[in-house]
Amino acid sequence: MGAGVQSSTLLTLSAEGILPKVDYAIFADTGWEPKAVYAHLDRLEREVAEPAGIPVFRVTSGNIRNDALNPDHRFASMPLYILNKDGRPGMTRRQCTGEYKIKPIKQKVRDLLGYPHPTRVPKGVFVEQWVGISTDEFHRAKDADVKYMRNRHPLLDLGWSRADCIRYLTSLGLAETPKSSCLGCPFHGNAQWRHIRDTSPSEWADVVEFDAAIRQGNARANASGNRLLGEAFLHRSRVPLSEAPIDHVTAAERAARQIAADDASELENGVVDGCSPWACRGDADALTQDDFGLAT
Ligand code: SF4
Repeated sequence: MGAGVQSSTLLTLSAEGILPKVDYAIFADTGWEPKAVYAHLDRLEREVAEPAGIPVFRVTSGNIRNDALNPDHRFASMPLYILNKDGRPGMTRRQCTGEYKIKPIKQKVRDLLGYPHPTRVPKGVFVEQWVGISTDEFHRAKDADVKYMRNRHPLLDLGWSRADCIRYLTSLGLAETPKSSCLGCPFHGNAQWRHIRDTSPSEWADVVEFDAAIRQGNARANASGNRLLGEAFLHRSRVPLSEAPIDHVTAAERAARQIAADDASELENGVVDGCSPWACRGDADALTQDDFGLAT
């Protein structure tokens, strides 16, 4: 449960008895969610989960912000926008979803099943995992990559779109459900960056400071001699966040950066598939079981 619109809807449908009651909800905490997400999670737990007898487990692999800036800590990289020395654009590989979301969830699931890592989970033993994917994003629905988890997508079974979820949450006084992701996630579109800047000065100062701090890459890589040959940025314009063109996307800018039409809307709304543990973008960040030694 990321505590965004779709997973909040699933929890609430279950708590209300419209869907069968789930045994548990699991929130993977990267340590750097917006304050609004933590507040919403607290409220969901207090007003929805607890009265229904659904335990909410908060699991974590650490604090993604601190780990990026700590030279003594191994860091699973965020998908940063890179400007190489020769001016070519690039991106760092996304490992953070696997490290900070998938890994602690799998560990918790194994604990709940009674087969903590590295114990082998016997054949035929599995959890049914509900993933909040609505009809407008049905292409994101995927099977789990381990046999001890079987994914179900109840919102697809119900035929509910994101708009249906928002209507439902609104009818229950949960209209303010925020978008869940790390505060400084590079997948943010301009709309999300503006929202942070315009509604939360302290969080804006936090992401601007972080953006400047990772300009030469993450601290561990630098400390171990693997310096980034170029510069890293949170905003896809590859301009420091404090100066990035988050208010406007001009035609000239688009042409200059040769951004395809699809990408232009990403500039505003963020990467469509964003960060979801169970519905990753199908590109370079495909995660394998072996990445975390949790396959057995
Ligand atoms: S929200 Fe962004 S930064 Fe955070 S884990 Fe997901 S991809 Fe990484």
